[in-house]
Amino acid sequence: MPSALVSLCLVVEAAAAQSYPSRPITMIVPYAAGGPTDTVARVVADAMGRDLGQRVIVENVAGAGGTIGTTRAAGSDPGGYTLLLNHIGMATAPTLYPGSIDPLASFEFVGLVADVPMTIVARRSFPPNSLKELIDYTAEQGEKITYAHAGAGTASHICGVLFASETGARPITIPYKGTGPAMIDLLGGQVDFMCDQTTNTTNQIQSGEIKAYAVTTSRRIPALSNVPTVTEAGLAKMELTVWHGIYAPRGTPPEVTQRLTSALKTALLASAVVERFRQLSALPVRAENASPDALKAKLTAEIQRWKPMLDKEAAR
Ligand code: ASP
Repeated sequence: MPSALVSLCLVVEAAAAQSYPSRPITMIVPYAAGGPTDTVARVVADAMGRDLGQRVIVENVAGAGGTIGTTRAAGSDPGGYTLLLNHIGMATAPTLYPGSIDPLASFEFVGLVADVPMTIVARRSFPPNSLKELIDYTAEQGEKITYAHAGAGTASHICGVLFASETGARPITIPYKGTGPAMIDLLGGQVDFMCDQTTNTTNQIQSGEIKAYAVTTSRRIPALSNVPTVTEAGLAKMELTVWHGIYAPRGTPPEVTQRLTSALKTALLASAVVERFRQLSALPVRAENASPDALKAKLTAEIQRWKPMLDKEAAR
């Protein structure tokens, strides 16, 4: 390219970054609407949009444990107008779907968002009334019991694998495109139990529409103070909080990702976000972790963390 043209391109790019964003932004959530990741994304997207002066519209592109939406986001135009909000599934995908997505190579990093505990829950009429009873009942009933999850590699799947490896339970697993639709079936009594994030279960537990056996944290959660922890029940290996991050396709200009990181930091301090997250027991990350480096480091470590367990599960 002649050098005058190169300079012109650089000027145009710099001007575009300065006026960014000049139109609405799409935030892809790779799971069904109405589920836990969708809830986190909508709270944050709304607040980021306020700071950016443009709407951030959540689009649910569900399927294949989140890899369909993630692949779509990776292949989008890197102009800052398509983003991805994904969770721990970003770290399990390289092991479970080799060749489909390389999250470390395909994205720029905006920052970590929030950590969300999980709950082990069941349909209201399910016989066990405590985690101990659930362990005995699942052992006794074997494949007569059904366990719902959001697809291989999702948080609900990992939590189910941990439960099975700690207790020996072997329920039939039913994959959904997200735990939003799984919750509808749990409420309707079509599936027996699942493990899902508090962002999707708190209201139904509080209203008594579903049973809660445990939270996957070492300490009890204020909003669900009568639900014991997995640690109290001797299942400390099931401790699990689900981290979330925001990504932009590889090649998104650094000025744009910096602007997005700054909007994320502002959003996490907004009182509406703090209050909504508090109600749902989601913990917004500290300001320094709403950053590209923190997200990249977390993703790198988590890919290694889950690989041995998932390799073992795949070989079963
Ligand atoms: N993230 C999934 C959803 O939003 C749930 C999961 O990972 O278990 O439906």
